[in-house]
Amino acid sequence: MNSWADVAVPRFNESYIFPALNLKSTATGNLVSLPQYRDIRMYVCGITPYDATHLGHAATYIAFDLVNRYIRSAGQMMHFVENVTDIDDPLLERAIRDGQSWESLATSQIELFKGDMTDLHILPPENFIGAVESIPLVVKAVEIMQNRSAIYELSKDLYFRVKSDSQFGSRAHLSFDEMIEISRQRGGDPDRSGKENPLDALVWMQQRQGEPGWPSPFGIGRPGWHIECCAIALAYLDKDPSDQFCIDIQGGGSDLQFPHHDISAAQARVLGEKEFARIYMHAGMIGFDGEKMSKSKGNLVLVSTLVSSGVDPMVIRCALLQGHYAQDRMWNQQLLTDAQLFIERMRSALSREEVAPTTDLIENMIHLLSQDLNTPSLFVALELWCHQTESGLQGGCAGELSRAIDALLGIAF
Ligand code: ZN
Repeated sequence: MNSWADVAVPRFNESYIFPALNLKSTATGNLVSLPQYRDIRMYVCGITPYDATHLGHAATYIAFDLVNRYIRSAGQMMHFVENVTDIDDPLLERAIRDGQSWESLATSQIELFKGDMTDLHILPPENFIGAVESIPLVVKAVEIMQNRSAIYELSKDLYFRVKSDSQFGSRAHLSFDEMIEISRQRGGDPDRSGKENPLDALVWMQQRQGEPGWPSPFGIGRPGWHIECCAIALAYLDKDPSDQFCIDIQGGGSDLQFPHHDISAAQARVLGEKEFARIYMHAGMIGFDGEKMSKSKGNLVLVSTLVSSGVDPMVIRCALLQGHYAQDRMWNQQLLTDAQLFIERMRSALSREEVAPTTDLIENMIHLLSQDLNTPSLFVALELWCHQTESGLQGGCAGELSRAIDALLGIAF
């Protein structure tokens, strides 16, 4: 499907040297360097289009946008793919609850999501792929896995044997009982009788009464969620047989670490016969006023609600960037107030005729981003520069700093 409108990124001064971008992989807990001087392949799990776009979504997509902006500013090509799960159980349940068709719910929420992404200056993916349009890719992937004895049938549904991949479960660092419990909470069906292993994953679901279905060699039905992402990522990004990984970055919110990303990776290892991702990168969760932000608690803060109440999307972006992407953190009104004040202070400092030196500051910004996107320290450095400028220090170039902040952080003044 069509992605959202492109966002202009200022050209970066080529005299700046970009070190390799180091990101923490949750699979190992280690910082891993992305390769330099070649294209980077990043797959980020998208939304299921209902209740879009809350601040947890925004924080996640802003984190991966920083990766995209760093790689592009460093002069490398970024191949970025994102999916949208436009058919899934939660979407169907919400459509029934609200008395509307699942198609119209999905279409309206996808449009809302695209508008929010544009407002937040998130660079669009090269390929934005819906679950429905991915069905031919899923069918092909399931057929290959069948030939590799990784699939079995249960009442006409097809399941992936997670143990087909010897590394299954190694990325999540959970006990078997924890895996079962988390799987139960996050859309899995570990209690279904007849499964060989309670963690085995549905790859093709036979059409249920009153639900949509699409034709396939396995009968009319629809794809499972984990195989959807895996099939899209491999089809669009795994194009270098000489690389030891199918892709460089598998990204999403930390609630996708298990089971979604572990099962996707296990399926990809069966299909691609090598490790799926060089780095498994996960953004923390955003809570609200001391509580976890969730649909069930009804305390979701939506980007569109804030914007329609007059909040500048750049202030939202700035407020979310003040925390570290991987940390779970709370959202509150004070963050918006502080971000608003910061932007006003930066604008005022940047509009002066003489500003404090900027070259070292920009070098430091690049260095801090290269260390697992250390935005909290970066904002401290920017505040210090404002203070120096207000104190009368001279010798910098305001235009160059403004362009660097726009290119690297996506904040346009
Ligand atoms: Zn996914």
